[in-house]
Amino acid sequence: MRQLSLPVFASLRLAIAALCTLGSVATAHPPPAAAELALRNGAIYTLDGARSWGQAVAIGRGRIVYVGTDAGLAAYVGARTRVVDLHGRMVLPGFQDAHIHPISSGIQANTCDLSDLKTADEYVDAVRKYAAAHPHEAWVTGNGWLMSAFGPGGRARRELLDAAVPDRPVYLSSVDGHTVWVNSRALELAHITAATPDPPDGHIDRDPQTHEPLGTLQEGASAAVDAVLPQPTSAQRIAGLEYAVRLLNGYGITAIQDANVSEEDLKTYRALERRGALSLRVVAAQWWERTEGLEQIARFERLRRQYRSALIDPGTVKIMQDGSVENYTALLLEPYHIPGDGRGFPMVEPQLLKEAVTRLDAAGFQVHFHTIGDGAVRQALDAIAAARTTNGDLGHRHHLAHLELIDPADVPRFRELGAAANFQPLWAYADEYVTQLTIPFLGPERSARLYAIGSLYRSGAVVAFGSDWSVSSANPLEELQVAVTRMDPAGGSTEPFLPQERIALPEALAAFTINAAWVNRLEKETGSIEAGKRADLVVLDRNLFAIPVTEIAHTRALVTLFGGRVVHGDLAAL
Ligand SMILES: [Zn+2]
Repeated sequence: MRQLSLPVFASLRLAIAALCTLGSVATAHPPPAAAELALRNGAIYTLDGARSWGQAVAIGRGRIVYVGTDAGLAAYVGARTRVVDLHGRMVLPGFQDAHIHPISSGIQANTCDLSDLKTADEYVDAVRKYAAAHPHEAWVTGNGWLMSAFGPGGRARRELLDAAVPDRPVYLSSVDGHTVWVNSRALELAHITAATPDPPDGHIDRDPQTHEPLGTLQEGASAAVDAVLPQPTSAQRIAGLEYAVRLLNGYGITAIQDANVSEEDLKTYRALERRGALSLRVVAAQWWERTEGLEQIARFERLRRQYRSALIDPGTVKIMQDGSVENYTALLLEPYHIPGDGRGFPMVEPQLLKEAVTRLDAAGFQVHFHTIGDGAVRQALDAIAAARTTNGDLGHRHHLAHLELIDPADVPRFRELGAAANFQPLWAYADEYVTQLTIPFLGPERSARLYAIGSLYRSGAVVAFGSDWSVSSANPLEELQVAVTRMDPAGGSTEPFLPQERIALPEALAAFTINAAWVNRLEKETGSIEAGKRADLVVLDRNLFAIPVTEIAHTRALVTLFGGRVVHGDLAAL
């Protein structure tokens, strides 16, 4: 399953192309039409089934018409062909991100951004300055704070924000999106008091004596504040998506799976597509509402019909099955190393999950699971198995995202069930989240199995990568470096974290191209550089195979082509 194209056919096609250009079978074929764009003198890593290399690519009508040698390219060059010398630079298929949140992250990028800061004092200072600079915003919103800035458990206090902004509500999402830090005014507007019970899918952090809310709301406990928080306007959504498209094209990304879309988000994508500004292929995962049951499948079908277009595919449903380890909401098979018997909780009751996945599968949907803990992973795999028993293998490519902890007994089940492992490789090194907020609460045995990317690869499962931006950087090159080194891409680490779980560069590149394309149901059209496919390509400033692995994260995308059109950089500057 790792090699998703058919190597025999791919090399046959290249051989035929080479023969044609030599003229030996020219009588059997019409001469090739001149291309609009010809890239020559490059190091083209095609990611075809044979993982072959080329020197040249020719592009016409948005598609790749030739891949091969510079000599073979000549047959595709006509009077109107633009020929560009790559000067030996590397070309890859456009990257595909299999789990990302472009619209909300783009909107957030235009609010109080805490993601470059590290301490509580810096956060409060930034919030104070942002509030002063935006006196007319009814709510002060922001994101990107780290739970690790507040020590184990990550309890940020409302009083810190009250001192900075006493008169307006403040709402700050943590960098991983699982916790919201609010001030007293926001709690008041949401009617959250010492007497408010915890919802079933989250908890309100409280003072142990008085039960007064401290100021952090975990998972579903933020819903009461979300309900009174003003929703972004359609202009803000569009501006957020425009920001995201520019950023992603700038990293060489040409296709994504948006891991949480509402109808408003689908409208936003459509608005950009209609004016030709959506230079991304988008698989839109519709959000499973935990407050609703199977009846919501009718809405998913309606939205799939209504919003499917050339660039938008709403044929996926996202089910969030647990939370995160850092706030003890990830579902584990055995308890956390904390007082009591806590092992997290399933967001969707397991029997309902089986019914939901079976029904979604039968209705032609792919299911994209959020699964962090080994308990959630098992429940998701059990649900896929139940769907198979009822429906047979319909080939809908269900996938499990995040996969922080997988029980060894479940590793082979991915391949057996045709489920893809969707990792966020940037999380797979020993940063403070891992050393301070994870390892102490899982203990040494389970911590020796975190982010088992190598194990899943060796099991024969399809491994795809995504960023989860804005949880972490959307730059695939940073993520690729961590996948092959298991070390801090900024250079802080001296030892790889669980080195047996590293994967080699070709495998990591496949996870961000052809394998992610398979998860996105786009592998027939994109994900590798082969004649007939869409011309979604990225030109890098260095050859990833010719540099030390610690330089991968510093590599830049010079030019991105989307359907043969330049959407980032300048071919004339190469
Ligand atoms: Zn996500």
